[in-house]
Amino acid sequence: MIIEIENLSKVYPNGNHALKEINLKFGRGMFGLLGPNGAGKSTLMKIMVTLLKPSSGRILIDGKDIQYHRKLLRGILGYLPQDFRFFSSLKTWEFLDYSGSLTGMKNRKKRMSEVDRLLDQVGLFEVRDRQANKLSGGMKRRLGIAQALIGNPSVIVVDEPTTGLDPDERIRFRNILSQLSQNNVTIILSTHIVGDISSTCQSMALLNKGELVFSGPPENLIKKAEGHVFNLSLSPVEYEKAKDQYDIISTIPTENGWDVQIVSDKTPVYESLAITPGIEHAYVYYMEHRLQTHLSE
Ligand code: ADP
Repeated sequence: MIIEIENLSKVYPNGNHALKEINLKFGRGMFGLLGPNGAGKSTLMKIMVTLLKPSSGRILIDGKDIQYHRKLLRGILGYLPQDFRFFSSLKTWEFLDYSGSLTGMKNRKKRMSEVDRLLDQVGLFEVRDRQANKLSGGMKRRLGIAQALIGNPSVIVVDEPTTGLDPDERIRFRNILSQLSQNNVTIILSTHIVGDISSTCQSMALLNKGELVFSGPPENLIKKAEGHVFNLSLSPVEYEKAKDQYDIISTIPTENGWDVQIVSDKTPVYESLAITPGIEHAYVYYMEHRLQTHLSE
C-alpha cells in the first residue's frame, strides 16, 4: 500500500494556515509524523481519514484519491483520534463488539472471536468485563487502538497515542504498535514526543508551523546531527554562562558543577567531547539550528 500526499495545504476558515504544500510518499511499516504542538499533525491526520477536506492538494492510496474513494477507505482504515473518548457504560468487550458491528462485521461469532483476539493483543483480556469508562488512562488508550484495529485495517492512523500516559504504558503502547508494524500494514503515528519515534519507524517526517522540514528514515535525521552534540563538564559559573550560549539538552549535577549535553554548530568554547547523537539530539539540533540557519540564509 503506497500513500502519496501531494501539494497538500489547509487554511482554516479563520485564516490559520495549518498545512503548507506538503509532499510525502511512504509505504508499508511504521511512518512517524513528528512536530511540536500546533505543527499541523492533527490537521493532516484528519484529512488523511477524510474528516477534513484539504484546501488544495490531495492524498492518494495506491493511486486512488481518498476524497473520491471514501467507501474504499472506510474498508481499509483504522483510526485512533487524539481525543478518543467514550461515554458509554458498556463493558470493555461490549464496546469492541459494538465498534466491530460499526465497521460492518455482521457475523456475530466471527466478531466475538476477533474481539477476544484483540483484547488479548492489547493486554485487556483480564479486564474484558470491566465497564470501559472505568478503565485506567493507559487501558483506555489500548482499547482505543483495539477499536482502530477491528476489521483488520491495512492503514492505521494513530494521533498522539501516548500523550498523558506514564512511561510504562508508553512503552507498552509502543510495543503494540511495533508488533503491528511487522504485519502487512501501514501505521501512521503522529506525535510531539520524540521518544515515540522509535527505531521501528522506517520513515518519518518533521512538521513545523505547517511546513514539512524533513522527511526520510530516522537515521538520516540523526546523521545530520553528527558532530554537533557535545558533553561538557562545567563549573557552576561556566554553567550559568553556557545556559545563554547553547541549547542544553540535559543536565546532570556532579561534585564540581554540572555535566551537560548541548547541540551546537561550532565546537564549544569549553572542554568538550563530541558524542553520538540519538533521535532526541537530532530533533533539537534540527529544530533549533538547521531551521534558524535555513531562515537566516
Ligand atoms: P498539531 O496536531 O500538530 O498540534 P493542529 O493540526 O492541531 O496541530 O493545528 C495546526 C494549526 O491549525 C494550529 O495553529 C491550530 O491553532 C490551527 N487549528 C487547528 N484546528 C483549527 C480549527 N478548527 N480552526 C482554526 N484553526 C485551527
